[in-house]
Amino acid sequence: MVKADAYGLGMSSTVAALEPVRPWGMGVATVSEGAALRGSGYADPILVFSPVPPTDFDRVANHALTPCLSDLASVDLLERAARRVGKRLDYHIEVDTGMGRSGFDWRDVTTWGPRFGNPEHSARPTGLFTHFHSADVDADATAEQWRRLGDVLAAVPISRESLIVHAANSAGALRLPDVAADAVRPGIYLYGGAAGPELPPPEAVAALRVRVILVRDVPSGTTLGYGATHAADGPRRWATLGVGYGDGLPRSLGNRGRALIGGRPVPIIGRISMDMTVVDITDLEHVEVGDVATLVGSDGAETITLEEVADLAGTINYEILTGFSQRLPRVWMDDGRS
Ligand SMILES: *Cc1c(COP(=O)(O)O)cnc(C)c1O
Repeated sequence: MVKADAYGLGMSSTVAALEPVRPWGMGVATVSEGAALRGSGYADPILVFSPVPPTDFDRVANHALTPCLSDLASVDLLERAARRVGKRLDYHIEVDTGMGRSGFDWRDVTTWGPRFGNPEHSARPTGLFTHFHSADVDADATAEQWRRLGDVLAAVPISRESLIVHAANSAGALRLPDVAADAVRPGIYLYGGAAGPELPPPEAVAALRVRVILVRDVPSGTTLGYGATHAADGPRRWATLGVGYGDGLPRSLGNRGRALIGGRPVPIIGRISMDMTVVDITDLEHVEVGDVATLVGSDGAETITLEEVADLAGTINYEILTGFSQRLPRVWMDDGRS
């Protein structure tokens, strides 16, 4: 899954980094994302997971994208677009087994099922899938959704061999490694986010690192930041970091979060501003302008995980990762890390 610019890491670099494992295809959310990926020269299947707006089926056809369809009206629109461009177009059937936001309702398969499998059609179903709502925390609910998908597979008039069946996101793939699916759809775990509290932890492949841009020795009583919510309780040394909420560092880390400098944790003090964040480095020696501070990732033996930041910000690791703004340069290391 490389939607949302590969969860913020950068879609084209991610696709290039994944090439050695030869993925069957790539998953995006929107037609625009798919068109951009196709435009970059990517030749394998590109699945568009969000329902396609009726006005966008020509773009689907022109870029040879594989839409995921949730209703019969969309199947008709794709069929018309396929005839217009005179090409065969593939699509995947999404089955709603409990997620509720998209997909054909698994309970109504006797209504919609018979509409598929007409060999005369130019648009053809080549895949069938569902999406788990609680694979990160609930094995029973996940198994039940998988069972519902099985019921649908048994009821649609399409041969099993002609369909690519998939269901698992990162958490599903780690939780149900044995399901008889043909493909999985990993996202967050590839990008260094934990897939669930009891699931194997990922490698911290993505990091947020910034430079110290100013070091100051301040006397007792010096106030800091908007609202002056922090004041030095004695002579202190502060370092200003060139990062703020305008880069996607959650403002809620003000007076609560931490950074790593030289492998040592230092507290974030005062409110985070749009472009600057201040840490107290009184306990550290030899911090200079230009030194690197880590807000997410490992430095020496210490690690700040995406989950630590997400917990402090009252959100999930996905939102932290996708929230890093374009102002932050994405730097890919030779070993594939960013
Ligand atoms: C985003 C997404 C995934 C990937 O989920 P992760 O939890 O990030 O692994 C898989 N399938 C669909 C349909 C998605 O929208």
